[in-house]
Amino acid sequence: MSAMNVDPAEISKFAQLAHRWWDPHAEFKPLHDINPLRLDYIDGIAALAGKTVLDVGCGGGILAESMTVRGAQVTGVDMNEKALKVAKLHGLESGVQVNYRQIAVESLAEETPGGFDIITCMEMLEHVPKPASVVQACAKLVKPGGFVFFSTLNRNPKSYLFAVLGAEYLLNLLPRGTHHYAKFIKPSELIRFCRESKLDLVNLSGMRYHPIDKTYSLGSDTSINYLLACRN
Ligand code: SAH
Repeated sequence: MSAMNVDPAEISKFAQLAHRWWDPHAEFKPLHDINPLRLDYIDGIAALAGKTVLDVGCGGGILAESMTVRGAQVTGVDMNEKALKVAKLHGLESGVQVNYRQIAVESLAEETPGGFDIITCMEMLEHVPKPASVVQACAKLVKPGGFVFFSTLNRNPKSYLFAVLGAEYLLNLLPRGTHHYAKFIKPSELIRFCRESKLDLVNLSGMRYHPIDKTYSLGSDTSINYLLACRN
């Protein structure tokens, strides 16, 4: 797997927790909590109903299912077999039909270039060896004029303090070892990867966690978590 753009240690980390994916109070709680925000963000910019969507690094399918409910025809890909099993089982239970596949995004880009109206790739780039290669594959997979969405973690002392020390050690929002600071990506770096893949920036927004009322909100502060929309 390491010859591909996949870190086996990252995959096994998520595989060990896969059975807890849909428990809104367990390890993936933050993904459940931020989902309504990012879903509205994507829908607001790209209008999901009737569109073909590829969700890259879909995990257990939290975002993929919710985009399907908004009327999109969604394919979810991940390199984590266990997470995909959980996603498929959950789909059977919920009746929300997503097409799940275990395939590297770079291979899918060879198979179906220009195959999707919208690509989403959330909280995944900080777990791969070469994020620019994922961005390039997404650019190849989206139709002309289509939208690509990324979300990841910024890299600076504040994001280390909040996203690693705060979230993993102080507030226990995430299991320890979830994130590696060196893999965080500055918005300027992600925008450069996009530009190199001929994707134009449409919007950059920050996501903030409010520890007192335990809620998240979108805004202009991109210093920790952020979302980026671009178009080819
Ligand atoms: N995008 C989902 C899950 C985020 S967790 C969401 O936001 O709800 C990160 C996911 O990235 C995990 O499911 C993990 O298996 C996946 N992942 C890590 N490296 C990957 C790779 N190289 N290719 C595809 N998926 C990968």
